[in-house]
Order: sequence, then structure tokens, then C-alpha cells
Amino acid sequence: SKTCIIIGASHAAAQLAPSLRQEGWDGKILVIGDEPYMPYHRPPLSKAVLSGEKDADDLLIRAQALYDKNDIEFKLGTRVANINRAHKSLTLTNGEVLNYDKLALCTGSRVRTVSLPGVELEGIHYLRDLKDVHDIQKDVGEGKNAVIVGGGYIGLETAASLKKMGMNVTVLEMAPRVLARVTAPELSEFYTRVHSDEGVVIKTGIAVSGFDGSNGHVEKVTCGDGTAFDADLVVIGVGIVPNVELAEAAGLTVENGIVVDECARTNDPDIVAAGDCANHPNELYNERMRLESVPNATEQAKAAAASICGKEKPYQALPWFWSDQFDLKLQIAGLSQGYDQVVIRGDKDNSRSFVAFYLKEGKLISADCVNRPQEFMISKRLIAGGAAVEPARLADESIPPKELVP
Ligand code: FAD
Repeated sequence: SKTCIIIGASHAAAQLAPSLRQEGWDGKILVIGDEPYMPYHRPPLSKAVLSGEKDADDLLIRAQALYDKNDIEFKLGTRVANINRAHKSLTLTNGEVLNYDKLALCTGSRVRTVSLPGVELEGIHYLRDLKDVHDIQKDVGEGKNAVIVGGGYIGLETAASLKKMGMNVTVLEMAPRVLARVTAPELSEFYTRVHSDEGVVIKTGIAVSGFDGSNGHVEKVTCGDGTAFDADLVVIGVGIVPNVELAEAAGLTVENGIVVDECARTNDPDIVAAGDCANHPNELYNERMRLESVPNATEQAKAAAASICGKEKPYQALPWFWSDQFDLKLQIAGLSQGYDQVVIRGDKDNSRSFVAFYLKEGKLISADCVNRPQEFMISKRLIAGGAAVEPARLADESIPPKELVP
């Protein structure tokens, strides 16, 4: 019988493998992942796992029984070193060679690292996997100082978790505002206010230049402007880079991710790619994009599974994302880039619940919903529907959310 190999054992793989069975694949399915764990939920790492409310056992994306029932095999703690497309085989770092009929690349992404002086000191961490969290937890301590380098989602979520654990937390962000790469100024202002209300110090427009310490452990974070911050723990969150090297070396087309079509197919008819590593065309926004989110990995994996089975089920889902910080549940529907108008619903300056609607040429393209699950659901429908919206109605709290849909 035929063999489908999936490289990477995380969100995309945990969807792709069972979806293959649903689409009718009756051959062998083998998932190869370099982490030593069965696929687990990554988002809680910076949230409930870091703060100790959840541990590794709570994180499994699917129960072992589901994989067993679907006859899905795993090889964990194992890295794929290269792919030989001419022979339809791949080589593991231990030298073992495996043959495939179909191949799925779910290699995800890894943290962007910095090469500043002192970065090798103990107490300085990145945050991408379960091992990272366990390492960070060893340096957590009530009343101790934590410095977060980078004010993106990971940095801010980590700051909130460490604050909850009783640390003094400072966030250092190079850009003039936090979340600058992904959101509008309104949301940045809001998160800056809530973090300072909670006692987190946020410094923007400041560039970290290095780290000092003694006995091999970090003690200070130094900045380009001469300021320094005491630190018992440093977490660096300055973005991620897609794992495309395997694909690139195998001659697949790579450009800000492994280039795939709307059905997750690469330029090799026997190879698909899905998740953080894949660059796909989005019909709704009419451009190519590489998204870094769980819903993207999951939905794209379904399209990839169908393609492997010779069916066309294009990935057309509306992008969405979430972030949890303190008591704030942010849900983002759609993508806001290119907006020409922002409409605010609710009191974003004094409360912890509001919506920022992003419009382009009179139509809703995105919404940031803070503790507003109803508006989030409605926004998804409004964006997908593509009809013109009335800004004044969106802002009017006397109109119930469900009446905002035409
Ligand atoms: P990944 O999860 O990156 O997994 C890829 C796997 O493949 C990794 O285990 C990698 O080691 C392995 N691999 C790579 N190359 C090889 C190889 N050659 N051989 C073997 N194995 C290989 N998303 C949200 O939507 N909401 C959130 O709130 C959110 N919070 C997050 C918080 C944190 C701390 C982090 C780190 C991420 C968060 N994300 C969140 C992003 C989300 O986790 C990712 O988008 C998602 O994990 C992508 O899944 P993936 O399967 O594409 O890749």
C-alpha cells in the first residue's frame, strides 16, 4: 500500500493526519516530529502553562486513542535531514532512509534569535515549545525582575503571566508602540494602558544592546540609550521565521514560506505544505500570505489532506486569531492591513471590553474584539458577506450586536 509521510508533529499535522483518513486515504500514515511530545497545543505555553495553571498533560491536541483508531504512526524526537524528490525518499538525521508516495510539510516556524553580546547567559530564554517553558519556570520567582524583549503578542502574554506570578515585569519594545506589526494604534494604546494598570512597565522606542551578568547568569539588560534594567529572567520574543530549509534544499518554490496554491499544493504534485511554514493565496483579501495561527494551520491542513487524496477543497476560511492577557480575551476576525477607517464600539479608554472595527472603502475587513464574543461572531459574518456597513451603527451600543448584520 501507499505511504504518506507528514514532517512536523504539531497543529497542522494533528489535523492533516486524521483528515487524510476522512478523505479516504487507506495507506500508511507516518508523522515525524523532532520534539519528543505528541502534538500539543502551543498557544497555552505563554498563558496557562507558564503561569502553572495547566501542565503538559492538559495540552494534547488529540487523544492517543484517536490516532490509534485511525492507524496513524508517529516517530518523535526525530528530525528529517533532507528530501530526495527524484527517489521520493527522505533521510533522517540518524541516517535512516524512508520512502514516501505523498509528503506533507508541516514544519512550522522557529523563533527569530538575536546575536547581542551576553545573550548566551543563563536566565535568557526564547519561548516556542514546552521545553522552553520548563526552562523559563526555573528562573521565575516572586519579587524577582523579569525583562521581556519585544512587545508583540508573545511578549505581552508572557508579561501578563509573569506578573500574575508575582514578578516585577518590564517590556522593552523597539518600535514606538507595542503590537505595531499587527494592529492599529488604538489597540496598542489599550494594551499599554491595561498592562500599566496591572503594574507591568512598558518602554517603547528603546533598543536592547546587550546583557550583563555574573557567574554565568544574567543580571542586567542594557540599552542603546545607556539605560539598564535589572533582570533575573529575560524572555526574548522578537518574531518567528518559517522552517523552509528542507523544502528549499529539495528545490521547492519558497518565498516567505513554502509557496502553495489554494489547495495547499506545492510545485511538486506529490508534496503539500500547511501551517506556519506555508505561503498561500487568500481569495478574500486577494493576495498571498503566510499566517502564524492555529486556525490557519488547522484549516489549511484540511485542504492539504483533500489534495493528497486527489480532491479539491480550497482553503478559503476567514483568518482569525486570539490572544489572552490578564482578564482580556482578544479575538481578531480578518486582517486589518490596508484599512482606511477605524470605528470604536464601547469605551476603550476606561473599560476592558470594546471592539475596533476596520473598514476599507465602506466595507468591514477586520475587527479586534476585546471581551466581545458576540461582536466577534457577527464580524466574521460581516467580513465574509462583503456588504457595505454603516459606521454609526457599528459604534452605537444601543443596537444589539446581532442587529448589525443586514
Ligand atoms: P509548529 O507548531 O511550528 O510545529 C512545527 C513542528 O515541526 C515543530 O515541532 C518543529 O520542531 C517540527 N519540525 C520542523 N522541522 C522539522 C524536521 N526537519 N523534522 C522533524 N520535525 C520538524 N496562535 C493562535 O492562533 N493563537 C494564539 O493565542 C497563539 N499563541 C501562541 C503562543 C505561543 C507561546 C506560541 C509559540 C505560538 C502561539 N500561536 C498562537 C501560534 C501557533 O502556535 C502556531 O501558529 C501553530 O503552532 C502553527 O502550527 P504548525 O503545525 O504550522 O507549526
